[in-house]
Amino acid sequence: MMSRDKPRIAVAAGDPAGIGSEISIKAALDARVRDACDPVMVGDAGVIERHARACGMNIELRTIRRVADAVWARAAINVLDCGQPDLASLPFGTTSAASGRASLAFAAAAIKCALAGSVDAVVAAPQNETSIALAGIPFDGYPSFLARETGTDPNDVYLMLCLGGMRITHATLHQSVRQAIAMLTPDKVLGTIRATDRALRKLGIEAPRNVEGPFAADTMFHLRGFDAFVVMLHDHGHIAAKLLAPNATAALTIGTPILFSSVAHGSGHHIAGKGRADPAAMIAALLLLAKTPRQIELQATPA
Ligand SMILES: [Zn+2]
Repeated sequence: MMSRDKPRIAVAAGDPAGIGSEISIKAALDARVRDACDPVMVGDAGVIERHARACGMNIELRTIRRVADAVWARAAINVLDCGQPDLASLPFGTTSAASGRASLAFAAAAIKCALAGSVDAVVAAPQNETSIALAGIPFDGYPSFLARETGTDPNDVYLMLCLGGMRITHATLHQSVRQAIAMLTPDKVLGTIRATDRALRKLGIEAPRNVEGPFAADTMFHLRGFDAFVVMLHDHGHIAAKLLAPNATAALTIGTPILFSSVAHGSGHHIAGKGRADPAAMIAALLLLAKTPRQIELQATPA
């Protein structure tokens, strides 16, 4: 494989009716992001253009069919066109089956690029779960979607929230508390710890600190000197993260062959197309993945 100056990161545009296109464009133009990586947007080029216009962003979008055709010029954004039906006149801020299908199609196309090695990592803009449900697609978050799209056992895939220097892996995610408790066997907890350890090494921490605990979930985040926290339930980690950094949390899916992050906030229908969306979480996710050793090295690491 060709060696590259900078990692290439595919940015899946997310829900076409939400703020995904806007925060992806803003992040792709951010000077820190441009210094750290070469971003390429994956989405419906017509929709992305419509968002740019509505938000008053005067930018050059370069529509391409393959990542290999990208031109890495600072002023332009490469858009891998993944045109989807019924989006041409889709109103912003609304839910629809077409939007639900499209957001997952963009993510799937970006994941394909990563599996093929044409990009080093994927960041997905926010999806809208109501639209995905309207499309009749079973979806309970990116970890299980990633497992399906990459052919990984869903039991080996976990969500790690990253905010500032804090990382939080979740042993269970979108289950009822009753179901989650039934899943929390010693093997499951050990599997979560092992996946966390491997992910930390991939994130550049050579010797993650040995495991300690258990600690009570209400005070553990005050503990200092740990590389990551492993929590049992969705809300143990998500409440802390969203209070500490509501718009700057990256949600890394760990345990699959590719580097994938989403952002830990929603599709922002109430401000879609208004130019007011804050790209901080998208920028944080891109910088996090850009600093991570390349895909090629990742796959060479024993998993
Ligand atoms: Zn959640």
